[in-house]
Amino acid sequence: MGATIGYVDKCNLMSRRRFMAATAGVVASPLLPNRGLATGLHTFGHGAFDIRVCSDGHMVVPASMLAIGAPVDKLAEVLRRTNAPAPMAWPAANIPLIQIGRELVLVDVGDGKNFQPTEGELLSCLRVNGIDPASITKVVLTHAHPDHLWGICNSAGELNYPNATYHVGSAEWNFWMSSDVATSLPADFRGIVPRTQRALAAIADRVTFVKHGDEIVSGMRVLSTPGHTPGQFSLELEGDTGLIITADALTHEVISFEYPEWVNGFDLVSDIAIANRRKLLALVAAERTKLLGFHFKYPGIGHAEKSGSAYRFVAA
Ligand SMILES: [Zn+2]
Repeated sequence: MGATIGYVDKCNLMSRRRFMAATAGVVASPLLPNRGLATGLHTFGHGAFDIRVCSDGHMVVPASMLAIGAPVDKLAEVLRRTNAPAPMAWPAANIPLIQIGRELVLVDVGDGKNFQPTEGELLSCLRVNGIDPASITKVVLTHAHPDHLWGICNSAGELNYPNATYHVGSAEWNFWMSSDVATSLPADFRGIVPRTQRALAAIADRVTFVKHGDEIVSGMRVLSTPGHTPGQFSLELEGDTGLIITADALTHEVISFEYPEWVNGFDLVSDIAIANRRKLLALVAAERTKLLGFHFKYPGIGHAEKSGSAYRFVAA
């Protein structure tokens, strides 16, 4: 898959009630029980890679945020099929840990219990499974949203993965670190800027900027899939069938596949996100590429199949 999936040449960030407004008020309650971590890590081999899927827990978000303006009956049907506690959805937080040779690569770091009370389980998940965070050699950050980035430091401001190098899209870094990012965001997103900038600043002396086509390690390449955020990317891993770690180019195992045109309220540049979602789905369905989705039901592995005018996700 050689071509960049899409480009961002503008940041027409639509003003809409979302992100902070949708998530900041969510607290743990008896009505919103933590679904708990999957016990034991899902593990599989792909080409030269050994992959373990860790969990950071799950998010609790209003389902309507994942499908702004969607027909109410269709969204209700999706929630029934995914056993979601309507009107909320519980997107998972699947974090791949990938071993190849002497490299141990973590893809995103979860929210570090700094964003939602049902997340922030990654470090416990690693420790329970005998994985020392200090043994991780590379951390890849697909984008800088709280659920992917804010677990980078402990409460003392020290890096949770002290021996890693950090790999971030330069477009993503430049967007979030710009001095006027807050004013370029809708009002209800602005609250995440200070912590996001602190998290990125913490890795400033260890960061490697990457762009489409760059190799993180041999056989693992950056696939640019912007739209969810301006510099978001996915990862392509070489192997028999191909594997794409989608990050948030695809965010839901039903909605993203069956209704790719629905507006996701977390997509900062929605028209580009939708266009890239369609391009990615067409490519992976044609090539029957294996997918690993951050927010799909754990462990988030499967493939896309053409279904009518859209697609469906077939879990492995
Ligand atoms: Zn996410």
